[in-house]
Amino acid sequence: MRAFPLGIGDISASKRAGLLDLRNRILDLMRTMAVAGFDQEPLTGTLASNDLNRRLLEIQRATVGLNSVWRESARLRVLPALAESNARYFRKLVGRLRHVDQEIDYREARGDRPRFINIPQEIETAVIGAELEDLKRLASSRKAIPTFKAVVLDGNPSGLAGNQVAILKHIHACVQKGHKPPAFGAKDEFTLQLHIDSRMLPTGQNAEAMALRTGVPFLLEDDQNKCYCRFLDIAGAAPRSERIRIPLVLTPEIARRMVSTKTGWASLILELSSRGVGVRLVAGKPQPETPTQVNRIVGRDFGYTNTIALSVLESPAAVDLDRLRATLKVLDTKGKAQGHLEGHYLPESITVVERLRFSGRPFMERARVLCEAIDSTKSRIDLAYNDLETRRKALAEELGLGPQDRVLPEHKKLSSKAREFFSLLGQINDLKAVRRGLYRKVASMKRCWFGYLSNQEIGLAVRHGAALVREDLTVEAIEKDSPSYKGRAFNKMLNNGSKGQYQRRAASKLLWNGIPEIVAPSWYTSRACLKHSGIVEKKHRVGESIFLPCCGKHDHADEHAADTIAGLAFLVPKINGSEPLAPVRDTSYPAIAVGSPVL
Ligand SMILES: [Zn+2]
Repeated sequence: MRAFPLGIGDISASKRAGLLDLRNRILDLMRTMAVAGFDQEPLTGTLASNDLNRRLLEIQRATVGLNSVWRESARLRVLPALAESNARYFRKLVGRLRHVDQEIDYREARGDRPRFINIPQEIETAVIGAELEDLKRLASSRKAIPTFKAVVLDGNPSGLAGNQVAILKHIHACVQKGHKPPAFGAKDEFTLQLHIDSRMLPTGQNAEAMALRTGVPFLLEDDQNKCYCRFLDIAGAAPRSERIRIPLVLTPEIARRMVSTKTGWASLILELSSRGVGVRLVAGKPQPETPTQVNRIVGRDFGYTNTIALSVLESPAAVDLDRLRATLKVLDTKGKAQGHLEGHYLPESITVVERLRFSGRPFMERARVLCEAIDSTKSRIDLAYNDLETRRKALAEELGLGPQDRVLPEHKKLSSKAREFFSLLGQINDLKAVRRGLYRKVASMKRCWFGYLSNQEIGLAVRHGAALVREDLTVEAIEKDSPSYKGRAFNKMLNNGSKGQYQRRAASKLLWNGIPEIVAPSWYTSRACLKHSGIVEKKHRVGESIFLPCCGKHDHADEHAADTIAGLAFLVPKINGSEPLAPVRDTSYPAIAVGSPVL
């Protein structure tokens, strides 16, 4: 299944207000349900799902002023969220127990503050290592939750030492403090997703409305309308209120991508956020037939300088993909990978048919600028918080507040310092909103770039009828061109997990298009010469260029890596140790070879 975004036409201000009103009313009901179904102490044995559902159904029925279909939507969103809230509670208890000896990271000297996150300060010097090790073992056993239950609820020490009991109670108290009903829509970027079923659409048109005709959704057609001829026509917020018509725009590109989807499987998701309205059409298609043999392979190299490099290699003889998978799967250590490369070679008959390389420079540069802005906003927020703390102390002194007392809006009448305090707090919240916006921008930029690239990649594989080989991500390849330190936000958003994010994005599209995906070991891919069964020394990799002494030529490093990854599919064993191709023993450096044009 895939979700296709449908474009939204112009919506009048009153319609927009109507949709926002719908969102707010559903959110209100969801919050009421969340509070009613919330279990403050999941250790007591959480409400059976039937009972919980019944409790929420009562609220659903008793609510007035909201259309019944929307009331039901609210319940269907709240149920899984409550289950998740309980599951998270248990995960937190066990997680804290597992990291029981984790220390608090103070920026300044610790002074007389607690040393550990999960150990009460009173016993932090008394507790011994063996007691903590015991608790860590308990965390990885199935007995962790029953032990919490016995200690906390029944007052039964369960064979634990006094210090250990104190730690369990401490952890429980901490987790309990953070255990609150799911807060729907608490953040301004919250998007309410509503699955539209036929009852929310106009009666009489249900069947057609949910169906697809020749790959294009037939929603509500209105030939009289001059601008738009398709609408999503949904029930209004209140019972018997006017229906809300959302004009839809289907771009030719999306329509083209939907052509092969299966008619009966489509459903719609309406997305309501505080910023706007979105509609997605979720459509599926039967699992496409995937070839078991191919003559062409696309190799993908993922990097930073060049986000991806792709090479298409062709063999006159077809490759059996299951056998290839089995061969590559056993190469699970660096040593085995090296042995395989040295014991095999790439026959002369294998040719490079096409190379594509996409420079990541403009993308990374734009991301770097945005991430720097995130970092500087973050330090401004930190500074403002320090300032706020100073002001809070001065204010507490003036008003005679205790250390636990909060500064309240009422205090504004009493002191100008309180007014300054709240104005600073407002500025902090504004800065935080700016930072969230920047994060969103980087994330969406990354999404677009990866979406574009994976489309290019899929297009290439389809055009050549090829299978795709990519590196295994479970093993970290160290010798990649990862950028040197560029700041916290940048590392968080771009260094870590980018490769995995791209891979997941591409994997789902490969599956959708019936292109086989094969995982290859990631060692030496950037420095191997498959023709000469050798691994080139690191010194020969300079910038984006690699020199292969055995071949006596320069190549573009990333394109060479993509060739190598694809080439792994066509290796044949060396017989009797005789090399099929004598290496060129020319050590002079010829002129730099030019790679394929950078796109
Ligand atoms: Zn070579």
